[in-house]
Amino acid sequence: GSLPGRERVGALVLDAYERAKAATGGTVAGYIPALAGADPELFGVSVAGVDGRVHAAGDAAVPFTIQSVSKAFVYALVCEALGHRAVAERVGVDNTGLAFDSVIAIELNGGSPMNPMVNAGAIATTALVPGSGPAGRWEAIRAGLSAFAGRPLALDEEVYDSEAATNRRNQAIARLLQSHGRLDADPPAAVDLYTRQCALLVSARDLAVMGATLADGGTNPVTGRRVVSPEVCRDTLAVLAANGMYQRSGEWLFEIGLPAKSGVSGGIVAVAPGKGAIGTFAPRLDAAGNSVRGRHAVAHLSRTLGLNLFASR
Ligand code: GLN
Repeated sequence: GSLPGRERVGALVLDAYERAKAATGGTVAGYIPALAGADPELFGVSVAGVDGRVHAAGDAAVPFTIQSVSKAFVYALVCEALGHRAVAERVGVDNTGLAFDSVIAIELNGGSPMNPMVNAGAIATTALVPGSGPAGRWEAIRAGLSAFAGRPLALDEEVYDSEAATNRRNQAIARLLQSHGRLDADPPAAVDLYTRQCALLVSARDLAVMGATLADGGTNPVTGRRVVSPEVCRDTLAVLAANGMYQRSGEWLFEIGLPAKSGVSGGIVAVAPGKGAIGTFAPRLDAAGNSVRGRHAVAHLSRTLGLNLFASR
C-alpha cells in the first residue's frame, strides 16, 4: 500500500514533531569548527510520498550541510555509473561495528574500506565518480544530488573551508586506503571531492524528497525525472539498512525497521520502499553521531504510518 491520506499524514508529521521536540539529549558535533556553533534547538521534520506530496513541520526549510547523508546518494550515482558488482567488490557492504571515522576498521579488515556509509568507504566510493577532471567530477556529484532533491543544491563555502582545513583524519584514511591499493584516485583529490559533497546545503524537506526518489525506484516523485534505476535503489537501500546508522544500524533496524542514513550536522533520511521517505534535521547527536530528535521523530512516524519493513501488519 501507500501512505495514508493527505490530512492524516499531515497530522502525524505534526504529532511526531511535537513529541520528538521533548527529547533534549545529545550534543552538537564539535570536531568540524564551522558546525560547532549550530543552533541545538533547530528541529524540522518532513515526509514525502511517492505520489509527490510533501509534508513538513518545524524548521523543515532551514538549510544545513548534508554531511554523511550524501554518502547514500553518491553511492547510488556511482552504482548507476559502474554497476552493482563493481562497486560492491571494490568498497564492500558489511558493517564495521565501529565509529564512522574508524581507522582500525580498515586495518582489522585487510585494508578494506568495508562499506560506503563510513568515511573510508565513502572516500573510496567518491574516488570512483566518473567525470573529466576534478571540476567535472564535482559537477557530476552536485548535479546528481540536485536531481535527487529536485532543485539545484549549493555549496556552503564556510563549512567546506572549515572541514578542508581540519580533516586530517580523513586525509589519513585516504592515505591508508592507498597504501593497501584500495583507493582509485589521488588521496588529497578524493578527500577534497568528498569534503565538498558533505558541504552541500539541504533542508529536511530536501532529504525527504531525495529519500522518496529512492523509495520510488529512482524517479523523483516531485519533478518526475529519473535519477537512477530501480536496481540501484534496491542496492542502496540494502546498504543503508546494514550500515546507514553506523555501528547502531542493527539497533535502528530493530527499533524502527527502515533503511536510513544520518549525518553529523543532524540530518537523517529514512526510506519506506514503494511508499515515501522521512527527512529530519536536529543537530544534537548521540554517541554514534545520529540525531537524537531525528531518531525519535522517525521512530514515531514509522510506527504511526505503519512503515516498519518487518511488520506483517
Ligand atoms: N564530513 C564529515 C566527516 O567526514 C561527515 C561525517 C558524518 O556526517 N558522520 O567527518
